Amino acid sequence: MSWDTVIGLEIHVQLATKTKIFSGASTAYGAEPNTQACAIDLAMPGTLPVLNKQAVNYAIMFGLAIDAEIGQVSAFERKNYFYPDLPKGYQTTQLEKPIVGRGNVEIQLADGSTKNVRIHHAHLEEDAGKSLHEGNFNSSFSGIDLNRAGTPLIEIVSEPDMSNAEEAIAFAKKIHSIVTSIGICDGEMSQGSMRFDVNVSVKPSGSEILGTRTETKNLNSFKFMEEAIKREVARQIDVIEDGGTIAQETRLYNGETKVARSMRSKEEANDYRYFPCPDLLPVIVSDEQVEELRRNLPELPDARQTRFVEQYGLSDYDAGILSSDAAMANYFEAVSRVCSNPKLAANWTMGELSARLNNEGLSTSNSPVSAEQLAGLIIRIADNSISGKMAKQVFEGIWAGDGSADEIIEARGLKQVSDSGALEQMVADVLAANQAMVDDYINTDESKRKKKLGGFMGKIMQASKGQANPQQVNQILAQKLNELL
Ligand code: ADP
Ligand code: MG
Repeated sequence: MSWDTVIGLEIHVQLATKTKIFSGASTAYGAEPNTQACAIDLAMPGTLPVLNKQAVNYAIMFGLAIDAEIGQVSAFERKNYFYPDLPKGYQTTQLEKPIVGRGNVEIQLADGSTKNVRIHHAHLEEDAGKSLHEGNFNSSFSGIDLNRAGTPLIEIVSEPDMSNAEEAIAFAKKIHSIVTSIGICDGEMSQGSMRFDVNVSVKPSGSEILGTRTETKNLNSFKFMEEAIKREVARQIDVIEDGGTIAQETRLYNGETKVARSMRSKEEANDYRYFPCPDLLPVIVSDEQVEELRRNLPELPDARQTRFVEQYGLSDYDAGILSSDAAMANYFEAVSRVCSNPKLAANWTMGELSARLNNEGLSTSNSPVSAEQLAGLIIRIADNSISGKMAKQVFEGIWAGDGSADEIIEARGLKQVSDSGALEQMVADVLAANQAMVDDYINTDESKRKKKLGGFMGKIMQASKGQANPQQVNQILAQKLNELL
């Protein structure tokens, strides 16, 4: 029996406002626990929430980016539940009238095809606090950090349109790329700025009826998400093939320990005793406000990809990678502006720089190598001052904080020799010192001579301590050997 997988995502995106959704408390990441939750975030008696206009604008911008209907009137509800990290006893969220209605997101797959994923809606809500557990079962304690309480979020709910992990990851990455490109979220997944809930079900291949789904909550890396989906699909198929049934439940997946487990059976909406929040007025959005936001909407990733192909002559593939990450795209453009060499700027940004940043777990915005510094290095590669090999050394130097490309080339004597007189002398010296190799070359059949050039190249490069310009040496060498035939 073969099975189809069905996946729908719910994505929490932290909006990049300076203050909370209903209070003036700071949203800055990394503060001492419980220093950034104010009386309003905790709903102390006598306080009233005031809606953050910037959070509303950011939500509308997301709606515009996915071509969604914007709710002219949206409203907040209270979703009641008891959790230690929710001192209010309810979450202020939107249920009946979300600010963003139906929309569409196009994803690109590895085989080059595209697929549309429908967005059911996106709503505004506040985040809860965070429970932290320490110790083991003999001696343990839990603490609660309420700094996150009241942080503005949009929750984006997709239709169950994805049919495997690849599509789900492509969709998640596309949402990441959209929200960072329009500047409504910093995209820092390790800091919880984006969290993914993955709904998964399986059904007999071709069946029209959806299977019972489980929801694995709070995944904050694409890698963990992929693992969680693959395991859950395999688990569900196992259960069903063994004659069991899937319980609709909320599950957890720990990416560090690779353990997946059930957390609780799924609540129904009526468990939450939703009711309209009596403290907040409906949110009225005017056409002017929407049009103003539309006019000022930053470039979207798809448009940027097209522009990169047209403006810089990049391949569609390279343009796609660069434009998928707003910070990387901005970095590339800054490098390209300074060195006027988009091809090399793209190669170095996506290659050496990205690899190095990944290794160190850094993001482009805190790269130790600035765009100006990388451009300085590329200028020296392009004018043949240094070879590709030396460039890697120089890059390491810049990364380590040893200065600009020119300073490092100067200080380490890395300058490539491109003076043709000097190179001709070098080649002549090496040929003279290796008469046996030269004889062998002359006596070799013409069709096989080409293979022998590498040996000479190696000796010449060695003699120059790697500083000879290899293209030029190649030319001079071929010419000199030719003269001997
Ligand atoms: P609820 O209201 O119970 O939370 P929703 O209908 O809002 O359920 O769906 C929540 C998420 O689950 C959506 O992203 C949706 O696409 C997804 N989903 C719904 N049914 C299925 C299913 N059978 N298999 C996989 N995903 C599903
Ligand atoms: Mg839901």
